Amino acid sequence: MAATERAALFTETACDHNNAKSAKARKAGCPKPKPGGTSGGCTFDGAMITLVPITDSAHLVHGPISCAGNSWDGRGSLSSGPTLFRHGFTTDMSENDVVLGGEQRLFDSICEVVERYAPPAVFVYSTCVTAMIGDDLGAVCAAAAEQTGVPVIPVEAPGFVGNKNLGNKIAGQTLLDHVIGTVEPGDVTDLDVNLIGEYNIAGELWDVVPLLTRLGIRVRSCISGDARYRDIAAAHRAKATMVVCSRALLGLARGLEERYGIPWFEGSFYGVSAMGDTLRGFARLLDDDELSRRTEELIAVEEAAVEAAIAPYRARLTGRKAVLYTGGVKSWSIVSALQDLGIEVVGSGITKSSDGDVDKIRELLGDAKMISEGSPRELLRVAEETGADILVAGGRNQYTALKGRLPFLDINQERHIPYAGYTGMVEFARRLDMAIASPVWEQVRRPAPWDLVGAH
Ligand code: SF4
Repeated sequence: MAATERAALFTETACDHNNAKSAKARKAGCPKPKPGGTSGGCTFDGAMITLVPITDSAHLVHGPISCAGNSWDGRGSLSSGPTLFRHGFTTDMSENDVVLGGEQRLFDSICEVVERYAPPAVFVYSTCVTAMIGDDLGAVCAAAAEQTGVPVIPVEAPGFVGNKNLGNKIAGQTLLDHVIGTVEPGDVTDLDVNLIGEYNIAGELWDVVPLLTRLGIRVRSCISGDARYRDIAAAHRAKATMVVCSRALLGLARGLEERYGIPWFEGSFYGVSAMGDTLRGFARLLDDDELSRRTEELIAVEEAAVEAAIAPYRARLTGRKAVLYTGGVKSWSIVSALQDLGIEVVGSGITKSSDGDVDKIRELLGDAKMISEGSPRELLRVAEETGADILVAGGRNQYTALKGRLPFLDINQERHIPYAGYTGMVEFARRLDMAIASPVWEQVRRPAPWDLVGAH
């Protein structure tokens, strides 16, 4: 990917966050990582986590082995079939390759992967080292594709060009430029849809797809949870696209609309009301009266069932207070799920949220604290000040909560529990209740026995 093409990714016209910037700020692009900043994910890592859930393809990292190790299995994306995506392929560059160039090694590696595993496609990722020594990823991939007869997709997202978010964008653009539109499906229906930004974390997709199937809607392609290469290659034949909690992939949705006329909307699978809005969103874009009728029926049945299932939990959770610290769009979608359970969100992280997301969070939360700095000290300070009963955040904040003797629920991509759809909502309620009601909190908050010595 040329530098000019990469720069174009910074002017996403569908992103209100980007549009709100001055021309100068927009030209500067999204924030680049500072030293140490890639521990939150470099561009290469962002591209990997976006594309690796394509389960039947081989994902080959062209670089030192540490890059592959750094990014392997970063998300708990599950597969209903192929497991090739969980193989960590790398060219394992050595000092000699750095001096002599790694193109031949890369070519041989692609041929070996194709010969041994017969994947439908190979995604090849550049890294800092191979980009800096000037290996021509595009040319090697083209030569290997010709030699093997298998699509070989160059993903030119070396770590040093920016942050994880940029890697997500490059991955989306790569699909648009190299994959989507290359397969013509023979089974197109008027109710085929694409999901963008859904990664099947802990199998969440499997709680959502059955609902769509009951409505007659077929997921033509999911980018990229539990995905198959040929399904994504046929995404251009879908009739509507939903962007699931992912600002970084808005460019892909916009590209599908511009190139293939596929309308799109943003939605969420978290929370009862958000799930209903999402199903209505599909019905609206697919413009089918009968589908709209079926959708309202299904929402009524499912909401009645989920209301009955969560009633005991809601009775125990109502009036509880939560501090929410998670990234971007997820903040407001989880806010809505917590409020559905009667929990008051007294603080929400906005570090990774766009201006539009922050407006939405403010609209939902009113006077709650907006946390723009997520240090452990700040999170605990907000929790104490607001009298929070639980911290709902990413896994890395677990120990912060434990040190503060505060119940914790992991909501990020590393988790193993699905919370999407109506069944996910019941599980979400159950886990929140379990975390808050655990008897351990009462015990650990008591003074230690040795502190009581002499107190009598
Ligand atoms: S691509 Fe660069 S920043 Fe990313 S893991 Fe490899 S060396 Fe580190």
